[in-house]
Amino acid sequence: MKSYTSLKSILAEFFPLHRTLVSDDHDKTLEIVGSYMPDSSNYTIETYAPLKQVWTWKVPERYVVHEAYLEIEGGERVVDFANNPLHIVSYSLPIDKVLSFEELQPHLFFNEKLPHTIPWVFKYYERSWGFCLPKNLFDKLPRDKKYRAVIKSEFITDPKQGFKVATAVVHPEGGPNPDAGEFLVQAHTCHPMQANDDGAGVVSTIELARRLAEKPLPRGSMSVRFWFGPETIGTIAWLAHNESLIPNLRGGIFMEMTGNQNKIAWHHTRQHNHLLDRITKFVLHETEYDERDFAAAPANDERVINGPGVNVPCISINRFPYDQYHTTDDNLDIMHEDMLVGAAQTAEEIIRVYASNYTPKRTFRGPVFLSGYGLWVDWRENWALNRAIEKIMMRFEGQHTIFEIAEQVGLDYWTVREYVEKFRAKGFVNPLPIPFEGDVE
Ligand SMILES: [Zn+2]
Repeated sequence: MKSYTSLKSILAEFFPLHRTLVSDDHDKTLEIVGSYMPDSSNYTIETYAPLKQVWTWKVPERYVVHEAYLEIEGGERVVDFANNPLHIVSYSLPIDKVLSFEELQPHLFFNEKLPHTIPWVFKYYERSWGFCLPKNLFDKLPRDKKYRAVIKSEFITDPKQGFKVATAVVHPEGGPNPDAGEFLVQAHTCHPMQANDDGAGVVSTIELARRLAEKPLPRGSMSVRFWFGPETIGTIAWLAHNESLIPNLRGGIFMEMTGNQNKIAWHHTRQHNHLLDRITKFVLHETEYDERDFAAAPANDERVINGPGVNVPCISINRFPYDQYHTTDDNLDIMHEDMLVGAAQTAEEIIRVYASNYTPKRTFRGPVFLSGYGLWVDWRENWALNRAIEKIMMRFEGQHTIFEIAEQVGLDYWTVREYVEKFRAKGFVNPLPIPFEGDVE
């Protein structure tokens, strides 16, 4: 596991690469990410054969661009992929053609609001070809000249050069507890030369993984699975190849756009008032935040994880909106170390509560003889807990999780958990795990 001076420095390593659904630079990105993940997390890259059916989708082909440029016929080169990978529409078809400006114009893309930037445009599935350029440059192109458009691109279907995603798992203290299942954290790696979307989420997720490896969740907690890959199709392809993992998933966070200077925004689960929503709200209650519905823009892989036929409760954490979105202005200049780290910390706090939470189920009859078992709490040491003992003990019927008990008695989660753990140590409660609430097909 490589050490790092800042999350921004990791981001700088893969930021400029031509990352897309399947590309050599995307492979390189997954290697870089892996080099920073905890050694103990068993970081693994999986490869899927292009064109293979995955649920209702198909695994995309590897995209190779040998060269791409736009020239004024007999004159200067106005746009060159070699200068910036955003200059072509991602997954553009090959072309080598001389066109009039009128013929060319439908294939040119720019951003009206940020006329000095190159926008990022993709046409992965309804394929065509196109160039992206600053509006300022577009305005200057002579209308009466002919243009030569050249894109030497290739779509490779060799299964050995397939589509890649990566996962890693960080276990709680003492190793995995299969009954508790897994919590999933995802960030996507597929946007060329974009920093905040979602290189930022990727490095915040690396930080989160390292924190959970350094200070593991309490014994018996969920394991935390980390996932990196291309947006949407990446998660679909991964789950379609690993359906047996789905019943293990008890919740998820999609992390993205965590580096710009803005407050945290979180998006509800599709269930809306799930335990995960309430825990998120609890963790954030002292900070200023934006709260949005499930899959509000920008929606990502939570639409897969929390979508039809899977339906595992999944929130999203981001710092959207920001003006530079999907343009060359989404670069390292708008990345703030404290924002990147802050998002990791927020996710960490949510996961520490959610993944260590369980439902205590009583094994005893009658009120427990507290002082006989060292369970009495001296009111001089903790008045509030002393007052809450009866209420807590009355909630061991297997209907409330520790988090809910803490909410009901008005005490801190960790105070209540520590106390319930003492009952568990004496064999007075059994821990029922947070159940799988997704769809079983
Ligand atoms: Zn995006």
